[in-house]
Amino acid sequence: MDDLNSAVALEGAGAIRDAELFSADRGHLKRRTFAIISHPDAGKTTLTEKLLFESGAIRLAGQVKERGERRRTRSDWMEIEQKRGISISSSVMTFEYDGLVLNLLDTPGHADFSEDTYRTLTAVDSAIMVIDAAKGIEAQTLKLFEVCRLRDIPIITFVNKIDREGRDPLEILDEIMSSLALDVAPITWPMGMGTDFRGIVQVAGEGPVTLTRNTRERESFDSLEAFASDPALAGDSVFGPSIEGLEIARSSLPAFDVEAYRAGHLTPVVFGSAMREVGVRDLLQAIGTFAPSPLPQPALPAPIEPSKKEVSGFVLKIQANMDPNHRDRIAFVRLTSGVFKRGMKLKNVRTGKDMKIASPMFFFARDREIADEAVAGDIVGIPNHGTLSVGDTLTEGSALTVTGIPSFAPELLRRVRLPDTMKTKQLQRALNDLAEEGVTQVFRPVIGSSWLVGVVGALQLEVLVSRLAVEYGVEIMLEPSPFDTARWVDADDAAELDRFVKANQGDLARDREERPVFLARNSWELSYAQKNYPAVRFSATRERH
Ligand code: GDP
Repeated sequence: MDDLNSAVALEGAGAIRDAELFSADRGHLKRRTFAIISHPDAGKTTLTEKLLFESGAIRLAGQVKERGERRRTRSDWMEIEQKRGISISSSVMTFEYDGLVLNLLDTPGHADFSEDTYRTLTAVDSAIMVIDAAKGIEAQTLKLFEVCRLRDIPIITFVNKIDREGRDPLEILDEIMSSLALDVAPITWPMGMGTDFRGIVQVAGEGPVTLTRNTRERESFDSLEAFASDPALAGDSVFGPSIEGLEIARSSLPAFDVEAYRAGHLTPVVFGSAMREVGVRDLLQAIGTFAPSPLPQPALPAPIEPSKKEVSGFVLKIQANMDPNHRDRIAFVRLTSGVFKRGMKLKNVRTGKDMKIASPMFFFARDREIADEAVAGDIVGIPNHGTLSVGDTLTEGSALTVTGIPSFAPELLRRVRLPDTMKTKQLQRALNDLAEEGVTQVFRPVIGSSWLVGVVGALQLEVLVSRLAVEYGVEIMLEPSPFDTARWVDADDAAELDRFVKANQGDLARDREERPVFLARNSWELSYAQKNYPAVRFSATRERH
């Protein structure tokens, strides 16, 4: 452990020191743990930076850029990331706003990385959906929204880029209602768009309204009526039609109802421009006011209440080699109950082994720092050498197992060819590491000696080959495999499963945890097996544990 501990760069900025935030019974009420979902290019990165900036986590505009460069340096090992200009690794950012601790989990934007993204969404209590005002709901947004809906994750919508020509705000609200079957409640409303853009007004309540032109120019009015009839605005033809639109929205939409939002039936909508820092503060306020604090975590034998005294948490992600200078391997653990303290011993329920958490870390906008304390909702990074896997539950001793963290059936299967057979051991270790991280799945066919790797998207294959070469010094080639898909198999009746396994040796493999997996050459073969073995379950997703 020691080499890992000293490898952690400790920098002073950003520490959370307010003792109240870690109070045993109330600390978790001050947490908001959320993710941003969007289609690539809608403005997620820009919005993330502005959220950090607005909250004071990044103090100078110049640092935003610096952060980008540092991040790039940090991920130098990922040549592909640079070549393609996309962000492959997801991470977590913790910052304070208005007496709250906000934990923002970054979800990779590329469609290929849905598996990682899905898992991230199992570790948040709410989400921000960013939509481009000109494009509306796009494919990837819809896909991610469906994942949120499965768990009824409450969503706040940010309609971005209203400083450019976009669709009419009423049309955008209509699209959200019809394509997502969600009620909408605007919190801000645009006064013109594109070259006519004059700012946004807050419209949620009955009281005073603020016209925000940009970060520095804000004007308050006693009421919406006072704003609408302000003589200073009468000379500008943009305001009249915008206020008309707003009044139509107010008279035709249901009133904002925080319970409907928390149940996942209604989305508050902030119209804004991340680039111009308009609506960002409104969004932060909406998160602080409406977004739920940590919810009970589904687990067996019973859900874990965040107010429970015993510390518990689960591994949502493993990331290796974040720092190119040090071979570090960090498990991101979402705490689900208790007040975690540095140096604590926690038990990995899967292996039954205790581990002392000597150097837990918090991740801030630019830095990581030792976490002395953390509560439910917080994400701490735990350096480890392979003892923790995605989905593992950690407790102070209880045999609790967190549920609902899926693993997906791969859609692409390839056979691994290793020209240098001297490197078999390294390959095995590397494949195991990357499987633990969730980059790929690894299968060992029951008959034959070569490994099969499975991924959900093609880009993951390139990542695999590149990381094996760069990080482990193992050159491999990927060859086509005769198989098209894989299904985890199990049955209530062990004899039935045994019968299936014995009869299908040639099409069977074991996953990393020795679970049987059926490899099918095509969908016909899969349905044939399903028909012949009705007592066997063929699962496309497998919950870890
Ligand atoms: P991501 O792919 O969702 O992370 O999107 P980015 O944050 O990288 O933004 C994509 C592009 O949209 C970049 O060129 C941004 O500068 C631009 N952009 C983001 N927000 C705004 C906005 O509010 N207004 C305008 N006009 N452009 C924006």
